[in-house]
Amino acid sequence: MSDTIFGKIIRGELPADKVFENENIVAIKDIHPVAPVHLLIIPKKEIPDLQSVTPADFALIGEMVSVAQQLAERFGVIEGYRLLTNNGSPAGQTIFHLHFHLIGGRTLGPMA
Ligand code: AMP
Repeated sequence: MSDTIFGKIIRGELPADKVFENENIVAIKDIHPVAPVHLLIIPKKEIPDLQSVTPADFALIGEMVSVAQQLAERFGVIEGYRLLTNNGSPAGQTIFHLHFHLIGGRTLGPMA
């Protein structure tokens, strides 16, 4: 089982501010938000990063995008939001369980 913070949240061993959950995916509010809306969309399947995704996961990735669309609607940011993942430490990944950041609610600057 994943020993990351997100593995513990998925198993209910750590508290989190959940905004969505089904059998495949959980979404939570980021504990250190960089914008008024900063959500994390996390597959329950243990995938360490985007580079580890295989064709067997494509339906799951599509479902994560669908959840992002629904949350963007619910949190009122469909006019403009950013959906991203950091792959690997040099890109800023700190938790090695795949997750998409959904960021919005303010004008977003250029990408680094
Ligand atoms: P990354 O750096 O791309 O791996 O993203 C990890 C994100 O998880 C960061 O934005 C953190 O602020 C966030 N984070 C870390 N611990 C928690 C937690 N317990 N609950 C919610 N978000 C967290």
